[in-house]
Amino acid sequence: MKIYITGKIPEGGIDKLKAKGYEIDVNPKDKVLSKKELISALKQKPYDAVLCLLTDKIDKEILEAVPTAKIFANYAVGFDNIDLKAAAEKKIMITNTPGVLTETVAEHTFALMLAISHRIAEADKFTKAGNYKGWAPMLLLGTDLSHKILGIIGLGRIGSRVAYHGAKGFDMKVVYYDVNRNEEFEKEFGAEFRLNIDDVLGLADYISLHVPLLDSTRHLINAEKLKIMKPTAYLINTSRGPVLDERALAEALKNKIIKGAALDVFENEPQLAPGLAELENVILTPHIASATEETRSKMSDLAATNIIEALEGRIPPNLVKIS
Ligand code: NAD
Repeated sequence: MKIYITGKIPEGGIDKLKAKGYEIDVNPKDKVLSKKELISALKQKPYDAVLCLLTDKIDKEILEAVPTAKIFANYAVGFDNIDLKAAAEKKIMITNTPGVLTETVAEHTFALMLAISHRIAEADKFTKAGNYKGWAPMLLLGTDLSHKILGIIGLGRIGSRVAYHGAKGFDMKVVYYDVNRNEEFEKEFGAEFRLNIDDVLGLADYISLHVPLLDSTRHLINAEKLKIMKPTAYLINTSRGPVLDERALAEALKNKIIKGAALDVFENEPQLAPGLAELENVILTPHIASATEETRSKMSDLAATNIIEALEGRIPPNLVKIS
């Protein structure tokens, strides 16, 4: 069996595939392949499987470049980079890596929430620049997070883990919006469901986005929705950039429509919306919410498992179904 891997990933998964006797080719370039480069790489050999990254846009033409492929295993839980319909037409299986990154992404989300509240990035810059001249009562005042209202948009695997940290670790009241209600979670964590997203936006002190990128969630948070939020509220996005209208957010932050934001994902990665990087009331991380050594190794292992299961004629554990 021949496998193409579109970028460098932790060795564990690659070793697992090699142990099966598969022939592995990894993109040797330390960069995302352009569409043209990816097509030509995939045409090198009759590959049976492709392990792809969220930065690869897997469309019809890419799928057609490798007609022998039975599976494209995405190294991510999100799969908005893949044309699922085209894959289904070509009978190519698509898999993702859910679950193994839930705790890490929730940790990163909370790290962002704490960092923006306690002005950690500003304080770090200030201290390293030699501006710290002694303790002062009014120096870099932040905001308490404990006992505040945490609004979760998308109470799935990651959203519910973030809600758990808020409720159990910081005595936060959780309110949430989702297309599916989770009454069991509500009972266990005293969380409250709102049928209308606006009711969460208007109530919460912290809004954390955890929906997948779908047609229905693109620009779910736009200028109008930002205006519903409290002027003291913070917005955290570790889901997908286009869920949020980033230009509208930059404007809202500049005009103090909301107090602050922390983003791990961007609308046109790796570009940032104009003016965003100049603002003090925003913290930005470069799409690293799942980037721990442990989690990236688990993702590598799971993507490899999905490929092995598919190539050995079984249903891979994380087969993505078109809804
Ligand atoms: P999940 O499928 O478990 O949860 C998504 C939740 O969103 C579900 O409860 C679903 O019902 C809800 N939802 C779907 N459409 C909705 C809509 N239109 N309105 C409201 N709710 C809706 O997924 P997960 O494992 O929690 O991951 C969530 C997303 O986080 C992924 O799709 C991915 O895009 C993103 N993610 C980002 C990173 C990162 O590195 N920043 C890492 C992992 C995942």
